[in-house]
Amino acid sequence: MNGTQGPEPRSAHSRPIQVSYAPQSGPAPMAGSGRGRRVAFGITATVAAAAMIGVGAVSWAHRSPAAAAQVEVSSTSTTGSHHPVSTPPAGTAPVTLVAHRVPAAPAVPAAKVNCNVKKCIALTFDDGPGPYTHKLLGELAAAKVEATFFLIGGNVGHYPSLVRAEVAGGHAVGNHSWSHPQLTLLSSSAVAREVARTQTAIHHAAGITPTLMRPPYGAVNPRVLGVLGQHHLSAVLWNVDTEDWKNRSVSITTQRALAGARPGAIILMHDIHPTTVQAVPGIIKALKARGYTLVTVPQLLGHPVAGHKYFNR
Ligand SMILES: [Zn+2]
Repeated sequence: MNGTQGPEPRSAHSRPIQVSYAPQSGPAPMAGSGRGRRVAFGITATVAAAAMIGVGAVSWAHRSPAAAAQVEVSSTSTTGSHHPVSTPPAGTAPVTLVAHRVPAAPAVPAAKVNCNVKKCIALTFDDGPGPYTHKLLGELAAAKVEATFFLIGGNVGHYPSLVRAEVAGGHAVGNHSWSHPQLTLLSSSAVAREVARTQTAIHHAAGITPTLMRPPYGAVNPRVLGVLGQHHLSAVLWNVDTEDWKNRSVSITTQRALAGARPGAIILMHDIHPTTVQAVPGIIKALKARGYTLVTVPQLLGHPVAGHKYFNR
């Protein structure tokens, strides 16, 4: 947006967007359904325009879709917190825009990972970018592992350099709505706004347009899927829930990830919790020891179809 070098711009709105949620009745993702058809992962890479989107950080109560009636844990992102990174000049290719000292993970081209042969598994991280995302990117790069990040649009403007670092590191970046509502409770036009605003924010930050959407709480229905399809998005759910947002425990998060691991699985975690980031190196090491190849969701699913939902390969 401009060529200045300096601190990442503060939001024009210093107060967080407060989002409250009525009790939900959304469907819990069920393991084993939604096998992906194999099609191309069509992110649109363009020259990045540095984002200086005036947005507030998002707060929300995170609730497991598989346990809607269970205790809520408030998960509040840091308001106005931002990394002392540089705003890149406009017109620079995204790969050059990484202000963090995150070594780029050697990208494994999707075509070279044959998940029909390999024991593939995908780590996914929701609700960022956040204060711990930078550390996680370093851990992933050190382990030479690519993951998938589903971003809250309202947080993207606070950490645009992290979004670029995710893309530059070979990770897949998807849409996780603007403000984390249960989409099934919204009108179709409101769903479309949540989706489109986040698509725009991610594109402004990193020059890509996601083709994957993780609906908050895993709540989708045919109507929501129809809106996602109109935006060329596939719904990516999960079949391994670490419940890291609830247990906030390195050991429990690790245990749940490994207990659920199976070929083709999609593991749900959240990079806004320090315990999760601490757990990741051990999870990766253990999965590799069991013969898994850790891949992005596009690598795992091949060519997910817009408007369809997927829980695993
Ligand atoms: Zn979420």
